[in-house]
Amino acid sequence: MKTAGEYLESLKSLNPKIFLGGRQVSLLDNPTTMTVVNANARVYELGCEPEFDDVMNTISPFTGNKISRNLNIATSTADLEKRMEMALLTSQMLGTCNYRCVGADTLNALAGVTWEMDRSLGTNYHDKFLAHLRYLQENDLAVSGAVTDAKGDRSKRPGQQEDPDVYVHMTKKTAEGIYVSGAKVSQSGAIGAHETIVIPTMGMKPGEEDFAVAFAVANGTPGITYICQYTPFTAERELVESKYLGNPLYGQRETSIMVFDNVFIPWERVFMCGETKYCGKLIARFAKTHRMNCGGACKVGFADLIIGATQLLAEYSGVQKAPHIVDKITDMIRISETARACSVAAALKGIEEPSGSGFYMPDDIFGNAAKLTVAEGFWDIMKWAGDIGGGLAVTMPSELELNNPETAPYVNKFLKTGANAEVRLRMAKFIQNWCAGLHGAGTWHGAGSPMAQKMALYALADLDKKKSLARSLAGLE
Ligand SMILES: Cc1cc2nc3c(=O)[nH]c(=O)nc-3n(C[C@H](O)[C@H](O)[C@H](O)COP(=O)(O)OP(=O)(O)OC[C@H]3O[C@@H](n4cnc5c(N)ncnc54)[C@H](O)[C@@H]3O)c2cc1C
Repeated sequence: MKTAGEYLESLKSLNPKIFLGGRQVSLLDNPTTMTVVNANARVYELGCEPEFDDVMNTISPFTGNKISRNLNIATSTADLEKRMEMALLTSQMLGTCNYRCVGADTLNALAGVTWEMDRSLGTNYHDKFLAHLRYLQENDLAVSGAVTDAKGDRSKRPGQQEDPDVYVHMTKKTAEGIYVSGAKVSQSGAIGAHETIVIPTMGMKPGEEDFAVAFAVANGTPGITYICQYTPFTAERELVESKYLGNPLYGQRETSIMVFDNVFIPWERVFMCGETKYCGKLIARFAKTHRMNCGGACKVGFADLIIGATQLLAEYSGVQKAPHIVDKITDMIRISETARACSVAAALKGIEEPSGSGFYMPDDIFGNAAKLTVAEGFWDIMKWAGDIGGGLAVTMPSELELNNPETAPYVNKFLKTGANAEVRLRMAKFIQNWCAGLHGAGTWHGAGSPMAQKMALYALADLDKKKSLARSLAGLE
């Protein structure tokens, strides 16, 4: 198992080509890219803390050794439940992405699909997948997951796009491996991962074989370029010491466009190549696990932080006992605990899938309900935090005013309540980070835009059974 220090040391040999704000930057020298590194390091640290051992680690059925749960393939509902708890815990500890969630979920989706392909098609993807999984587990590597293609014009299929590169696809096949081009967008923490697992973004049809590719690629592989997001939070981090920011160490959920320019992937790292029939299953299984973890549990961890900060702000200004404040805090708790309950249910009602494989997937209805509840409810949680936090959450002066002898006495005098100005400003900044920033839209789209969950829920619900129940009780049958 890697320590945080060993993870940091391992990054020195990676050398990813990263652009941020229009210039090339070094992963370990830039304040924003370092937030990804810090978050990953903290996840490694959590894995070494005895208190969290049970949630963060498990024993691999493939190596027999202790591994990070981020690299585990679930083989029981207990595994699914712990996986969901890990998402919750890391969100509570980081206040940002744990950067290994998509990687873990793509691995779980691939385990079952490669197993199935080999049985039905006589391919050897599953053995290659397991060999690679053992390599990841034995070296305790950080793995990100690349699913979301640039997609171009949504009304056209991949092959109909003006530029085929808007979907990652194979450009050449040789005896040694395949070459791929394209781009995956919104890639959480890929810059700080040792490896990325790439899968198709959606189901593919006959004729779209070149787009039906899944593979593992190491950070720093020639032909890969990371173009990072740049936001007002990036600019602020460049301007001031991190202690003045809303999430000092771990910052925002940092993503990048991951560009593949004729990147060579050796055959031993290719887990799907042209099997269009299996793309739909692959993305559906990924969505199942990701909606339980990233959709439900992870955002509940974020909600815990927002609720805690909001309660503190209420106490600082002496309104915590007012009935409407108690009611609003309770509503925030109701939303987040409902999402958590859906995630727990998704895990506990999980089933072996594919049947006979030994691999487990969460319940689809509860997973979708978890993600949808949190996507809708997060806006309400933000609303109540903004309400209780008061205008100060957006009108606050900089904490730097406390270092200025001309403004410090005023700020201290006028912002002091039950807490001194520094404490109040710090907590208001923390709330600003959540309510006046990137998290609303991020929570909405992460793990799939809500329309996708609505379509899934509608398709999964057994409406015939519900109709029959109604007819029967109404005396119509
Ligand atoms: C913070 C964050 C982190 C993320 N991390 C990762 C990551 O690590 N790895 C990864 O692979 N992805 C990641 N994603 C991407 C995420 O999975 C996508 O944002 C999500 O699936 C939505 O896709 P999109 O962004 O392309 O939105 P779009 O697909 O452009 O959706 C925009 C709107 O168009 C609608 N729409 C889309 N297609 C159609 C259609 N055919 N017909 C009608 N309406 C349509 C949608 O419902 C939505 O209303 C991340 C996203 C966020 C916000």
